[in-house]
Amino acid sequence: MKIAFIGLGHMGNPMARNLLKHGHALKVFDVMPGLVKTLTNLGCDHATSAAKCAEDVDVVITMLPSSPHVRSVYLNATGILSAATPDTLLIDCSTIDPHTARDVAFDARAKSFSMIDAPVSGGTGGAEAGTLTFMVGGDSQDFEKAKPILACMGKNIVHCGGAGNGQVAKICNNMMLAIEMIATAEGMSLAAKLGMDPKVFAGIANTSSGRCWSSDTYNPYPGVIDNAPASRGYTGGFGSDLMLKDLTLVTEAAKAAKHPVMLGAAAQQLYQMHSGNGHGALDFSSIIKLYKKD
Ligand code: NAD
Repeated sequence: MKIAFIGLGHMGNPMARNLLKHGHALKVFDVMPGLVKTLTNLGCDHATSAAKCAEDVDVVITMLPSSPHVRSVYLNATGILSAATPDTLLIDCSTIDPHTARDVAFDARAKSFSMIDAPVSGGTGGAEAGTLTFMVGGDSQDFEKAKPILACMGKNIVHCGGAGNGQVAKICNNMMLAIEMIATAEGMSLAAKLGMDPKVFAGIANTSSGRCWSSDTYNPYPGVIDNAPASRGYTGGFGSDLMLKDLTLVTEAAKAAKHPVMLGAAAQQLYQMHSGNGHGALDFSSIIKLYKKD
């Protein structure tokens, strides 16, 4: 297939390389010329704008920072929808708000394009290894068309329903993750403060009703799990600023739907405080620093 790939950052770059490995012909674009060069060095064609990149290809994939970028790259007078050939399959893998995803898909369909939202989980490690999970929103037939392409970059490809539902799955899951991480940080730090060995306490929680992914796989207390970011100074992993971004998306979506998310809103505020304290680049389990100062 001839595939346009737009947005070659931490995630887009390794995803594009996995498509190349599977024999697809790639045309790439990013506003940062240095990132384009890393792909043209591997034999990709390149374009001087998103619109030019989307011309004469079978599929367009975008992996952009957030909603305003997606809106402008697709909908601007000189955006993707103005330049791609009708029937081109459009796949947006960025994490954005469901409302924007639905707006862009609606405009795309009105111009005879197939479009899906396909945000990912699995981080840069999953992008490198080609083991990402794709949460897909869109028509069943567009999902089936996209599946073999997504399979070059991921292992778990799930149809979540109509347009925007991929984003719904992504942001609601991450809201639950943030809340459970904060709860684990709070419980772990209190148990230690009250005199318990954190490793012994984690062992109890993990065989009791306090167990969750944040306690048994990704524990935020240093030294409890050898290969967790907490045991290497919170480097690598999933950045607190990325978690803050997803929490902001989910609380905005809840506000628009007039749906209460008390704990989600508290989590958004706690990550905002944590980022304001200068820890935005650290893994999101570093939220325990709000409770444990040493
Ligand atoms: P990134 O900032 O590294 O990459 C985004 C790229 O888009 C950058 O290279 C930027 O130059 C480019 N870009 C911005 N505006 C553009 C435009 N108008 N035209 C062309 N290119 C443009 O971000 P990332 O970490 O690769 O994340 C991408 C998306 O994936 C985000 O929505 C993020 O929330 C989501 N995500 C990231 C991770 C992660 O671990 N990094 C995990 C899951 C999901």
